[in-house]
Amino acid sequence: MAAMAQYRNIVILTGAGVSAESGIDTFRSEGGLWEQHRVEDVATPEAFARDPDLVLRFYDMRRAAIQTKQPNAAHHALARLDSTWPGNLLIVTQNVDDLHERAGARRVHHMHGEHLTAWCTACDRRPRWTGPLIERPPCPLCGASALRPDVVWFGEMPYGMDRIHAALREADLFVSIGTSGAVYPAAGFVRSARELGAATLELNLERSRGSSWFVETRLGPATELVPEWVEEVLGC
Ligand SMILES: [Zn+2]
Repeated sequence: MAAMAQYRNIVILTGAGVSAESGIDTFRSEGGLWEQHRVEDVATPEAFARDPDLVLRFYDMRRAAIQTKQPNAAHHALARLDSTWPGNLLIVTQNVDDLHERAGARRVHHMHGEHLTAWCTACDRRPRWTGPLIERPPCPLCGASALRPDVVWFGEMPYGMDRIHAALREADLFVSIGTSGAVYPAAGFVRSARELGAATLELNLERSRGSSWFVETRLGPATELVPEWVEEVLGC
């Protein structure tokens, strides 16, 4: 991977593999189960309509859990890159935790939403939210009891696709870190990036389904590969 001078605009896609070493698991790591729940029972609009208490309790648990976790060396390295990189940079994350931000990253886009905001379906705003939702608390902005997890469920449109595609069009380097390559539309970003002429690099624990689209793949834990790569890119 070449030094700083070669690249100007970078898009970084991060997935579960970046947060896994902070102790945050996902349903993908456990054969379709997420803490003993099937995806279709907790992570779809239909599940929420059918059994809102189950879904709210599940996300209340996840929201509480992530607040006990800490960013790891991969988050810290990306935050360092973000704070020093002079060109455009966008960290597009599939993760709904706030570990990129807690490490200090600023140019972060949560395409699948965030645990630490709630979405008010009455006023369509997203207040910061750290506590439980199970008791149907009122929205702090409009007073309606219409808050739901601000997480993009299966069957819903990821957030900010226009912003992501605009960043991909300008990117000369696309890096995918710790993603399974199984969830679209994120799995298609590498293909878009290549077609638009960007260099492509994958950092992952094991080869992803989309590996063949990357010009270069490096295999290993994110906490090792990401700091190494950031050093290379910053040329120090
Ligand atoms: Zn509201």
